[in-house]
Amino acid sequence: SRLLPDATTKAICGFCSTGCGLKLHLKDGEAINLTPDPDYPVNLGTACPKGWEALAVLDAPDRATMPLLHGKPVEWDVALKYFCEKMKGILDTHGREAAAFLSTGQIMFEEMAFLGSLAKFGMGMLHGDGNTRQCMATAVTAYKESFGFDAPPFTYADFEESDVLVFIGANPCIAHPIMWQRVLSNERNPEIIVVDPRKTETAMAATQHYAIKPKSDLTLLYGIAHLIIREGGVNQNFINEHTNNFEEFAKFVADYTPDRVSAETGISVEQLNKFAQTIIKGTPRVSFWWTMGVNQGHQATRTAQAIINLALMTGNIGKPGTGANSITGQCNAMGSRLFSNTTSLLGGHDFRNLAHREKVAAATGIPVHRIPDQPSLAYDQILDAADSGKVKAIWFVATNPSHSWIDQSRFNRILDKLDFIVVQDMYCSTETAKRAHLVLPAAGWGEKEGCFINSERRIGYSPKVRRAPGQALADFHIFRLIAHYWGCDDLFRGWTSPEAVFRVLQRCTENQPCDITGINGHEMLRKSGGVQWPLNREQAAKFDVSTSKQRRLFADGKFYTLDKKAKFIFDPPTEIPDQARDEYPLVLITGRGTSAQWHTETRTGKSAVLAKMIPEELMLDLNVNDARHLKISDGMSVRVISPRAELTAKARLTTCVNPGEVFLPMHDNRVNQLTYASFDPYSRQPSYKHSAVRVEKA
Ligand code: SF4
Repeated sequence: SRLLPDATTKAICGFCSTGCGLKLHLKDGEAINLTPDPDYPVNLGTACPKGWEALAVLDAPDRATMPLLHGKPVEWDVALKYFCEKMKGILDTHGREAAAFLSTGQIMFEEMAFLGSLAKFGMGMLHGDGNTRQCMATAVTAYKESFGFDAPPFTYADFEESDVLVFIGANPCIAHPIMWQRVLSNERNPEIIVVDPRKTETAMAATQHYAIKPKSDLTLLYGIAHLIIREGGVNQNFINEHTNNFEEFAKFVADYTPDRVSAETGISVEQLNKFAQTIIKGTPRVSFWWTMGVNQGHQATRTAQAIINLALMTGNIGKPGTGANSITGQCNAMGSRLFSNTTSLLGGHDFRNLAHREKVAAATGIPVHRIPDQPSLAYDQILDAADSGKVKAIWFVATNPSHSWIDQSRFNRILDKLDFIVVQDMYCSTETAKRAHLVLPAAGWGEKEGCFINSERRIGYSPKVRRAPGQALADFHIFRLIAHYWGCDDLFRGWTSPEAVFRVLQRCTENQPCDITGINGHEMLRKSGGVQWPLNREQAAKFDVSTSKQRRLFADGKFYTLDKKAKFIFDPPTEIPDQARDEYPLVLITGRGTSAQWHTETRTGKSAVLAKMIPEELMLDLNVNDARHLKISDGMSVRVISPRAELTAKARLTTCVNPGEVFLPMHDNRVNQLTYASFDPYSRQPSYKHSAVRVEKA
């Protein structure tokens, strides 16, 4: 009976952006096991291996249980006094730009909002960013420019209601396995088109796979637009009524002839025609989906917009089974987009706009003069400022960039220059925590409460069902304590609980596209199976919490721009940085390894069950022809060498990567020693998908 639960409660999984509902089985108020929630509208009774193991990873022996100052355990009082003294000293001496925070899409959005508000309004920092810069920044920028607001239009029912699903730089089969389940339950016998240099698990299950040359996606998408126009496949009514500047775009893509596009992408003219015909023949419902293969590129924003352009020109938006749909990565990437107070002011507002600052000041009770009139520097710019000595302290929260940031060695060299590094995390063993002067031990998912927003804009509530180990505290409480020790707790007097902050944030969203003033607190989220934004008071009056009706954006064809019309945005492709060359003739692509792995494996690496699903050694996918040429056989130890570093891996000979390309999973901590740091100029998102390397026998 020790293991027999006596109650259940519900939570949202804290790994990926799918946002699956889980049922937690409790004994004496503590979760002892879990199963997928059969009633939750997202996952319909299923979960991927990570979700099933969500509790197991809380018990790891390397949990941070005490604050650590220079590696030695200290009491919270000592740690917080030290934190405030150091940070104040740096900000007072060197100005507001001398300290920054780098946070995450992994904590609850009430916590994110508290961190961003405390650091900027309370402590007086100017800069902070999130690891969402590595995953979602591109989609944010693309949507804002094209639609007038960062607004992914879709709902998961679109997976089931499409006639044609086009996945570009996305491998949902392993990266979003429950979304892939939704695709598999599509009963319309859909065409599934995958655009990816690699023959991924998703590509293997597709009806059409286009293995383009790495980072030729922008050219391909312009070529498809060209063919759609040539073949009369545009939806002229939609274009006339709901978009502007199509004529300009049509003129621009006139140059992207099939012959040219074929030569630049490696896709035959016949295949290009087939792709275009599949989208237009019989005017099917077409949905376009993208993830990191697009977002992490040197021209990522324009590539995302080239996808948006295809949806707009064919009128595939705002209707069932359609959309230009960016799938987010982390459980709360969307929470970060709306509430992290980094690039945008709380609720998707603009720091530079006085009316926005006044509105947020009124909603939060923070005096308007404390709200900065400029957005933060982006992640890479904060690092450059640290490299030049301008930034002297960084506070990392629930993220491990010493492993995950592009060109990792440079990142770690920059860290070595800082006067003060604080890491607030569940584990004291991460590569970043090992470099910290001060570690603040944090509770993890399940050990605290708050809300996540998933890829389809669904806000879900997750409760506390476990006690955090030792003296670890919920991030929320750490922020409250810091406000107190700093002496700015007056500003946050009403921010007493995640629910109280939820109410503050609701006020910030009033009359925004993401208006959630109609959500009646955490209670409504608990009862309803989550609520998709927007839900203003008017919509709430008609909202039935007992149904899980799916809602998509732009059903009325009205976008969030001033004239309510969407924009076609385009630019010619630019040269790929770090091209393959004599000494480094292969292109390294990095990405998700298996569905059992997550990011830098700070959590998934702790599960014995998940470990069984992961190769024991780092595997390099190498094309069989390249292997023959290099005299490398399957399973052989090889060196992968870039101008920045080298590592050894085991060769896995395959035809799933084309000749001239190799693939490594991002989860191994050595992989980002090889990657070349280039950034999209608009979103500042790093490109992990194109680095020149060579491979030799070890
Ligand atoms: Fe959790 Fe994502 Fe797996 Fe669902 S698919 S169980 S949200 S990790």
